[in-house]
Amino acid sequence: MRQGTLNTRYSILTMKWHNHRITAGVIVFAAVGNIIPAIAAVLGSTFPDRIEGKMGSEEQRKRHRKGSHWFVPYVLVAVALLFLASHKGVNSVSIDMVQDISLTLGAIYPVLIYLLAFFFIGALLHIAFDSICGKVPSLYPKKRFGIKLFKVGSTKEYALVFLVIAISGLVIWGQL
Ligand SMILES: [Zn+2]
Repeated sequence: MRQGTLNTRYSILTMKWHNHRITAGVIVFAAVGNIIPAIAAVLGSTFPDRIEGKMGSEEQRKRHRKGSHWFVPYVLVAVALLFLASHKGVNSVSIDMVQDISLTLGAIYPVLIYLLAFFFIGALLHIAFDSICGKVPSLYPKKRFGIKLFKVGSTKEYALVFLVIAISGLVIWGQL
């Protein structure tokens, strides 16, 4: 019962976490064609909400969509990590690469740095989707921007997720 109350209260505050996970995963998979960075993005796709504290708590609601949802640090960190990984010779991470343990061990830090970049890209996709179902901090963090295209958990939210899957699917299909 209590859990239900928390969930209901929390669902008013953010796009559904499973939708954040699905959209981040399919977009990154379509963009880079590899499942491993897509998994890293899925893991990062709930990060901006997670760092606000316990879901539904007073504290979390006060912090919601403030500093945790400012895109600038995520962009800077993701770009810096991608540069660093690339500088160390890692520009992609595939299943084959992970299966080849000797290769992965030889490049373990750049591989982790590369995947961490995609973790933050997942967080950025979270913020992007939040900005179309409410407001998030803009470049100047005290100003907020965003549009309310749909209500959280609504049919429109699921229609958008379906559209993202369909477009990403077409991109992946085109790459085959
Ligand atoms: Zn959020």
